[in-house]
Amino acid sequence: MKKKMDYFFRSAILIFIIFFSFSIYLGDPGLNYFSTQIQIEKPLNSQLLMNTTLSDQFNSTKAYKNIQTQLDFGYRIPGSNENLECASWINSEMQKYGESALYNFTIGDIECHNIISRVNPNKSQIVIFAAHFDSRAVAEKDSNESLRNTPIMGANDGGSGVAVMMEIARIIALSKINWNISFWFIFFDAEDQGLNNGISGINGWNWCEGSTYMMKDMKKNPNIYFRETQSLKTINSFILFDMVGGPDLQFISESHDNDELRESVFRIGQSLEYTNEFPLDGHEYTIQDDHVPFANEGIPTLDLIIKFWDINSGWPYHHTQGDNIAHISEESLQITGRTILQFVYETYNPEIGFIKKFTSENTFFSSPFVIGAGILIIGISIAAILKKSASKRY
Ligand SMILES: [Zn+2]
Repeated sequence: MKKKMDYFFRSAILIFIIFFSFSIYLGDPGLNYFSTQIQIEKPLNSQLLMNTTLSDQFNSTKAYKNIQTQLDFGYRIPGSNENLECASWINSEMQKYGESALYNFTIGDIECHNIISRVNPNKSQIVIFAAHFDSRAVAEKDSNESLRNTPIMGANDGGSGVAVMMEIARIIALSKINWNISFWFIFFDAEDQGLNNGISGINGWNWCEGSTYMMKDMKKNPNIYFRETQSLKTINSFILFDMVGGPDLQFISESHDNDELRESVFRIGQSLEYTNEFPLDGHEYTIQDDHVPFANEGIPTLDLIIKFWDINSGWPYHHTQGDNIAHISEESLQITGRTILQFVYETYNPEIGFIKKFTSENTFFSSPFVIGAGILIIGISIAAILKKSASKRY
């Protein structure tokens, strides 16, 4: 009987070790791994998956017109009248769907304007959609050298993200869903004037000046941005749209982004049969874009962006005179808009009963050193137990 008990305990310890090592192998601490199993998120999501009522309302013709209207203002270079006129138009359009305001700031002596629009503004949890609305002052990558100091239209680089966001805002605001979350739509100024190939958009400026300023100001003056129950910590996710309107759309994986958030959105894209557009092929690239100041604060971000530096990847017009309405695809606007609306429906629909948290990656448990040390300890333990039981047997 005693021997049987010994055998039982040793088996129990072995089974525990095997489960524990398996959970470490998955890159998660054991408890987290088991608790996500209990939350039955997946069955609920797949039940709702086929309900595309919300995402089907995305009107790509309206989104396309939103690009055209921006281009009609002219070049939206920071500090110009065209830039301010475009900002005022976005602001007044967005006021149809909720609150919207300009947040003015200066870089050097140039007046800039970020815009924040809020739909359902009083809920403490916040989802942010963002894009830049300024257009680049130079075409430094144009094959025609004489055009490299001339401004670009920015139909895709700037215009497309703004256009898709405005249409998403319209659908969400007009939906009859009793959302339990606040939707913010941020239109950044001063994103696209940094230095490239020896040519600056505006001398001395960096990339992403508008979002960098906003994050600094959010931390310094939170009351200007947040309701009482809101803070940087109640931002559930931040999704950036950058060049979402070119044909042959194919989004990349960006290294600042939250893996869980990216997987959620990409899997939804794939389930809508946009498999080429949302590939999860394991390749990751690092890009400085307007999501980085937010990612650096631990906010789960996703940058929907293409391989803009690769002229063989389907959209070779980045920072050239080719970034115009002729190289925009209404279908790409549709693909982006539908996927994000479906993500919103499946993630934030109050029928789900809770708001999914995109946990930031646990760098301690997923670091190769800790995994290696864990495997070593487990190996030694198993060897010791086997040795002990073997020596008892003989
Ligand atoms: Zn750009």
